[in-house]
Amino acid sequence: MNKNFIPDIFQPRRIFVESGVSDLAMTRRILQKFPHQTIEYIDDANQFPATFQLGSDEKWNHDLLLAKQRGPFLRLCPGTQKHLCCLYHNLDVAAGCDLGCSYCILQGYLHNPLITIYCNIGDMFTELDNKLSQHPNSFYRIGTGELTDSLTLEPISELGPELVTFISKRHNAIIELKSKNVHLQPLLSLRHKRRTVLAWSLNAETVTQSDEGKAASIEARLAAAREAQNAGYKLAFHFDPMIDHENWQIGYRDIVERIFSTIQADNIAWISLGALRYPSAFDEIMRANHPRSRIFLGELLPGVDKKLRYFRPIRVELFRAMYSWIRSYSSTVFVYLCMESRDVWQKAFGWAPRNSAELKSLLDDCVLQ
Ligand code: SF4
Repeated sequence: MNKNFIPDIFQPRRIFVESGVSDLAMTRRILQKFPHQTIEYIDDANQFPATFQLGSDEKWNHDLLLAKQRGPFLRLCPGTQKHLCCLYHNLDVAAGCDLGCSYCILQGYLHNPLITIYCNIGDMFTELDNKLSQHPNSFYRIGTGELTDSLTLEPISELGPELVTFISKRHNAIIELKSKNVHLQPLLSLRHKRRTVLAWSLNAETVTQSDEGKAASIEARLAAAREAQNAGYKLAFHFDPMIDHENWQIGYRDIVERIFSTIQADNIAWISLGALRYPSAFDEIMRANHPRSRIFLGELLPGVDKKLRYFRPIRVELFRAMYSWIRSYSSTVFVYLCMESRDVWQKAFGWAPRNSAELKSLLDDCVLQ
């Protein structure tokens, strides 16, 4: 991979539009970008995936669906049983991603092969407004990177500037845009008031090259992070999933060194660590989609939450090493584990939050200061 690789902007092969959103501003804005493409209109997006057939030579995530979000846009992260959770809120603005990481759990989680963008964003802003106004004493960390990559569809949806501007006017929320892509130019000139955290998921260079599909190179992600820093944004980095692979110490240490030689530590809101894990029910799908990936060769065991994970001592070793490398550059940047028990925290970091509420409070403090 070219060291400055940036993926092409997603070009859908076909576009489907649910009739109920065809007159909305966001739908029109998106369709204007594809003036020569045939648009197929459908009645009900919920019924549609069941009847949608892929040809034998077709792949997931080549087609675009513009639809209505019928449920709530904002959801408390479900966390995982018997593990500490940071009590984050997910904002589901889209579902699906064109980047194609081998370990992506959306392969099992999403039940249709289209990339869906929800176009009734007026409803979304009303819902957010109500939630934040009705709970003025609660603080919300919100992210759009659960069911999609937060920046990869930005050139098509152009939702980012609206979200950043909306959140900049709220006292009790921040938004985190988490990505392996670099489409952030329209965000750089906004008055964000440091209420948006621009975050990049990172991995060891070898894992990025073998298992992160069309994602931007590490060099390109770090260059984007530096641009975001220059524009005054708070930043975050996520090493999730960390992969136990040959010479992982060299690969991960190298990325930590590159972060701190690119970014000022006091601009980093947090760094998260998580090890490879996914529901056992998705195992067959992920292996079938990525038969050449080596990450599924490692031994993964089912945990109490029915997710496959590395054996606990391996996870502790990965986390402990990362924590010490990060601490060698910064004694203050907040480092947390995603979906791990207090016991693993204690063994890896030498301390643990008492409960999920305390972890939430510590993370809130990182952006409230
Ligand atoms: S970038 Fe994220 S959402 Fe996209 S394929 Fe990779 S893991 Fe999945």
